[in-house]
Amino acid sequence: MKRALYPGSFDPLTFGHLDIIRRAARMVDELNVAVLANSAKNPLFSASERVNMIKEAVAGLPNVTVSSFDGLTADYARQTGATFIVRGLRAVTDFEYELQLAQTNHVINDDIDTIFLVTDLRYSYLSSTIVKEVASYGGDISKFVPESIIDRIYSKYHISGRSLK
Ligand code: ADP
Repeated sequence: MKRALYPGSFDPLTFGHLDIIRRAARMVDELNVAVLANSAKNPLFSASERVNMIKEAVAGLPNVTVSSFDGLTADYARQTGATFIVRGLRAVTDFEYELQLAQTNHVINDDIDTIFLVTDLRYSYLSSTIVKEVASYGGDISKFVPESIIDRIYSKYHISGRSLK
């Protein structure tokens, strides 16, 4: 049984994340998308809001589960029986940090290997930060995130989604 963990902030989930989820789910028996709850990043969405958004978006993928966790990713992987960590690589700029993270996780838990999936070209520019930036000015985010979460993002900025259309 190959079990993988896809950890991240997902604040909010984007089409870039979803693409990684779909592709990773084809490679393993079970993929657990794990929302990092204790991020020092002062998230826009609470951990449970992020978990719910992802659950709705992956409802059609039977081998994908969603949870949230605190603490070290390598410890959470051990607790959940995952032996792979999945991460997405968008550009060279992601690489240095991701390499360091993967090596650290392997030192903490040597049962773990990190699998890097290279982003689809369509999403290589896309990040949760960009989505928040555009949404905060009332810009169109429909090319960035699933339809079901668009209004939830606007409402965090007190923008009525419908008035934009
Ligand atoms: P973190 O705070 O852990 O970087 P993110 O939610 O920003 O959390 O990203 C989680 C994972 O998804 C990371 O591996 C990141 O590189 C990857 N990722 C983010 N955006 C994209 C994208 N547009 N395409 C592919 N992978 C992505």
